Amino acid sequence: MKERSALFCNACAREIKMENGILKEDVFEGNKEWGYFSEKDMVRHSFILCEACYDKMISNFAIPVEEIEVTEL
Ligand SMILES: [Zn+2]
Repeated sequence: MKERSALFCNACAREIKMENGILKEDVFEGNKEWGYFSEKDMVRHSFILCEACYDKMISNFAIPVEEIEVTEL
């Protein structure tokens, strides 16, 4: 992961724990380049969510997220 300056959760504005430019907690990173069939044509949206805000977001889903266990990266 590349070094970066302070990072904040977009939903709750909490600062993400970081040491020497390395994240000390895992976050959700959203990245979407909207295309022609949207009302945001050619606009890129990016945001991060801390784990608590991510959990809050997916708890609103009508269909639960697909969960796949990852054994090795
Ligand atoms: Zn948050």
